[in-house]
Amino acid sequence: MKVEHIGIAVNNLAASIRLYEKLLGSPCYKTESVVSEQVNTAFFRQGETKIELLESADPGGVIARFLEKRGEGIHHIAFEVGDIEAEMSRLSAEGFALLSSSPRPGADNKWVCFLHPRDTGGILVELCMERKES
Ligand code: ZN
Repeated sequence: MKVEHIGIAVNNLAASIRLYEKLLGSPCYKTESVVSEQVNTAFFRQGETKIELLESADPGGVIARFLEKRGEGIHHIAFEVGDIEAEMSRLSAEGFALLSSSPRPGADNKWVCFLHPRDTGGILVELCMERKES
């Protein structure tokens, strides 16, 4: 599993896009709102890995609650997997709590599933797999 992206929670997406464009020296290549997750996202490519900025689209959403508790910073690490359902069963059998019982549509054309940070040393881990049109 490679690190597909690192998710970073930000207060203001437009301001953070300008910051990361300066920091990385490359433009944001995509912005996308994920209505089901109540987030607005922006993506940067950094070699093999991406940076995903996450702004809350809802004051009661998960990103809003994260920002309230912990402020801006790293929100999750996403690993790319070849077969997300197989990986979910394997990790569940290993005793990791999954935050959804089936893969959910995420940003950037992915199926995603999160693991509870209680079981992963305090880091929110995302599994992601490219969504293919069938
Ligand atoms: Zn992510």
